[in-house]
Amino acid sequence: MARTFFVGGNFKMNGSKELITKLVGDLKAAKLDSSVEVVIAVPAPYIDLASSIAKGSQVQVAAENCYVKNSGAFTGEISPEMIKDNGSNWVVLGHSERRHIFGEKDALIAEKAKFAIENGLKVIYCIGELKEEREANKTMEVNTVQIEALAKVIKPEDWKNVVIAYEPVWAIGTGLTATPQDAQDVHKELRVVLTKLVNADVAEKTQILYGGSVSGATCVELGAQPDIDGFLVGGASLKPEFVNIINTPQ
Ligand code: PEP
Repeated sequence: MARTFFVGGNFKMNGSKELITKLVGDLKAAKLDSSVEVVIAVPAPYIDLASSIAKGSQVQVAAENCYVKNSGAFTGEISPEMIKDNGSNWVVLGHSERRHIFGEKDALIAEKAKFAIENGLKVIYCIGELKEEREANKTMEVNTVQIEALAKVIKPEDWKNVVIAYEPVWAIGTGLTATPQDAQDVHKELRVVLTKLVNADVAEKTQILYGGSVSGATCVELGAQPDIDGFLVGGASLKPEFVNIINTPQ
């Protein structure tokens, strides 16, 4: 089964009304491969603005985080209902910056994903090993544990609302990219993991993105790998080359 190519942009904590208006407006005006699913994650205060500009185009908007309740005494958090109320149907969860700067653990990230899906969002679920874990040959062990946390709490049919982003932490924002073969090897193994933890159908159908310093220069070779279904792009999603990355399949 051919999986749809998917390119996510992660703006992180960058932007202003002016910059978001320009970036989303430029994307909307650009000639994008219509077969590619495009989702940009923007800071919470700009979800409404980005969604309004992107409306009617193939560009969808995501939140960069959300909590496990829809309202209440949870100062500083945002909920799936709020995300939808601002015109977005997606959320990025488990990004390495949430894991390693803000200390989010697998169980909480998985609960967030479960709650987001139950409340009508689609989830870009990020996983990835640290440099020292890779060097200790623990890459698959670490990524398996991260996927297992999610597999334990969502139903097999919920996986249609999940896109996995494999982002080796040592490659994020560092300019170091996994070689296409290294990334392909992990993605292929992740399908074996999904087969064991969920089922073969989910393993075959779930889009697995690669993330970590993807650029206009590296996207073609990475995107040609059979188990790489697209990218989650940080730094380069703020640059004109993002359009070339979206158009990788062409
Ligand atoms: C990211 O933020 O998910 C990411 C992959 O960043 P970068 O492309 O800058 O490495």
